Amino acid sequence: MDVLGDSHIHQKKGRRLILFPLPLQGHINPMLQLANILYSKGFSITIIHTNFNSPNPSNYPHFTFCSIEDSLSETEASTADLVALLSLLNVQCVVPFRNCLAKLLSNVEEEEKEPIACLITDATWYFTQAVAESLKLSRIVLRTNSVSSFLVFAAFPVLSQKGYFPIRDSQSEAPVPELPPLRVKDIPVVETCYRETLHRLVTEATNQMKVSSGCIWNSLQDLELASLTKFHQDFPIPMFPIGPFHKFFSASSSSLLAHDQTSISWLDKQTPKSVIYVSFGSIAAINETEFLEVAWGLANSKVPFLWVVRPGLVRGAEWIEPLPQGFLETLDGRGHMVKWAPQQEVLAHPATGGFWTHCGWNSTLESICEGVPMICQPCFGDQMVNARYVSDVWKVGLHLERKLERGEVERTIRRVMTEAEGQEIRVRIMILKEKLNLCLIQGGSSYQSLESLISYILSF
Ligand code: UDP
Repeated sequence: MDVLGDSHIHQKKGRRLILFPLPLQGHINPMLQLANILYSKGFSITIIHTNFNSPNPSNYPHFTFCSIEDSLSETEASTADLVALLSLLNVQCVVPFRNCLAKLLSNVEEEEKEPIACLITDATWYFTQAVAESLKLSRIVLRTNSVSSFLVFAAFPVLSQKGYFPIRDSQSEAPVPELPPLRVKDIPVVETCYRETLHRLVTEATNQMKVSSGCIWNSLQDLELASLTKFHQDFPIPMFPIGPFHKFFSASSSSLLAHDQTSISWLDKQTPKSVIYVSFGSIAAINETEFLEVAWGLANSKVPFLWVVRPGLVRGAEWIEPLPQGFLETLDGRGHMVKWAPQQEVLAHPATGGFWTHCGWNSTLESICEGVPMICQPCFGDQMVNARYVSDVWKVGLHLERKLERGEVERTIRRVMTEAEGQEIRVRIMILKEKLNLCLIQGGSSYQSLESLISYILSF
């Protein structure tokens, strides 16, 4: 599908945009995809990025890259505590970011370069609003999660007031009347030693978005209309749901890890829709016991599987050494394990019939757009909300709600891959896929939103 139509060779707009991604895989991908979309529409692109998790500039010869010093120590950069990492980055990047942006602006004047139209930053970079204002530059935020999950984060102060925190196990199945169809256990939790800091981070990002010049969503009106309407009531700023970005440009060039192409050659040997693809994304981690339950659940299901075990997925292990010796060999080629897969290609492959996912927003969108039914295994944060929407609202996946246990895993895989229930899910997700594809072509909601975004940027 040529979603950009003739616009690949759009006329130059004579304006430059400065983009600043958050240095996490699930945030870098959509920001770099957005950069490509806007470049294809004629804007020049500069990417400011941290040293930590830097994108590879050689994959983007058409962009200018400016690196800033984030001053993270090795220990800080490798922490599993995301809240600590993100709040530290929001402090340590202020001065280097400000200096970098000021220099870019003064270069324009001195060297008579094309003017900078605006700054587009990840919403989590909350400090950038004040910097942009002080330099008289408009800031648009990119939100890389779903609108529905954002609304839950935005409701944290209310939920806090009503006593939902800390989440109590005894209440976990109870509905949250303020946020249907969520249950208490779906309220995003993020494991951290700094719970207060998490709430502050969420509040700052939300407040600084409220006073920004607008919000770009990697989502679609036709998928999240009710949430977008609610968002617009509470946040009366221009909003542009122009997703899904990956239908314009793949995320492969912004991958921080190398894609193992044996994923595709292995899939080529499998029969259509026979394989369950398993990946829990770039951050989620499980313990050794859970890892073994996943492994035995997969093995016992007798369904062929392609399993991404990212180094770091299993806490305390290098890679797959907790598996019993000979595990893969006993499966007679029915299983293939890799450290990182070309996920979009895998999901689009005819042999892929299901996706056991942690429900990161990119993965969720990528699965819907390829019409691949999901098994939802949310681990933390927005994944809990996405999973509830996948299973209960869009009804395009099953939710693994209980403890990770091999029998339950085996049954759930069979339900999706070989039983009538799975067929019904497949029909629903194919209908949704077709509907979403229409959003991207002329007259579709995302297409129109993108046109509005371009006019809006040109009005600065
Ligand atoms: N991804 C990939 N190979 C893998 C697993 C994931 O290329 O083996 C990509 C995936 O296509 C998606 C991103 O990494 O674009 C993960 O983002 P998501 O929001 O799903 O999850 P996160 O990693 O942020 O938890």
